[in-house]
Amino acid sequence: ANDTRRLPRWLKREVPKGNFNHLTQGLLDELKLETVCDNAKCPNRMECYSQRTATFMILGNVCTRPCGFCAVARGRTQQVESDEPARLAEASLRLGLKHVVITSVTRDDLPDGGAEHFYQCVLAVREKTGAAVEVLTPDFLHNDAAISRVVESRPEVFNHNTETVPRLYRKVRGPKSDYRWTLHLLRKIKELDPSIKTKSGLMLGLGETTDELFEVLADLRRAGCDLLTLGQYLMPSAVSADNYLPVVRYVPPEEFEFLGRAARQMGFADVASGPFVRSSYHARDMAAATIEV
Ligand code: SF4
Ligand code: SF4
Repeated sequence: ANDTRRLPRWLKREVPKGNFNHLTQGLLDELKLETVCDNAKCPNRMECYSQRTATFMILGNVCTRPCGFCAVARGRTQQVESDEPARLAEASLRLGLKHVVITSVTRDDLPDGGAEHFYQCVLAVREKTGAAVEVLTPDFLHNDAAISRVVESRPEVFNHNTETVPRLYRKVRGPKSDYRWTLHLLRKIKELDPSIKTKSGLMLGLGETTDELFEVLADLRRAGCDLLTLGQYLMPSAVSADNYLPVVRYVPPEEFEFLGRAARQMGFADVASGPFVRSSYHARDMAAATIEV
């Protein structure tokens, strides 16, 4: 059996300490920007940065949802900063980024969930840098107009994570979450603009069964989802473990490989599947693999 108190050997990996590097951190501080890469101490930082990819977090760093796998703060949200799109574009340019991932906390307190701000950010980055833009959005629950607005910015990739199987949705993503809406959102993007690549991802090891997982993958394909990421769920911090969902299982690398192959056979155009995979891992390659020439 899996002893989840101890990390299996395949997850023991040298994690780069500190920030991307001092230069980058200085720039991010100067422009008052946050990256998920740094905030989440993502183990892939060096790799992603060397591929000129980074994930920025817009709309503040306080969230209105209570997901049990996430370390983002909850509480009073921040004011939307109208100069953030310009600062984001400036940072992307100065870092020489070729693939910019833009994500945000969930802003249930804003009438449009922050959709207009996403729109402005995508346009600003594209105009200033020519980089490919991927958005990783919250669910914009029951707000089709918000989805449409983000689609109008025509990001190369529109990502919304499924995170887990429907049985575990409320437990993992909180009482407001709705699996059917996740599928609706992905379907809607394709309806509005079939040229946008849609993407979704799940964390494994939360107690899902393989059968449940395959049902989700089939649902995602039926919703027209092009790209898929499968990664291991890890607690954001071992220090405050009581605040987070426990890891039920560490999925071995061979199983990730098997799932990745199976997903490709189901028709996903590209799949990243492995213990360290995160939503934006190899994002540039995945986007490139599916941009028609
Ligand atoms: Fe940043 Fe995503 Fe890469 Fe992690 S996987 S370093 S969050 S771009
Ligand atoms: Fe974290 Fe996103 Fe959940 Fe907010 S909605 S708690 S940012 S995963």
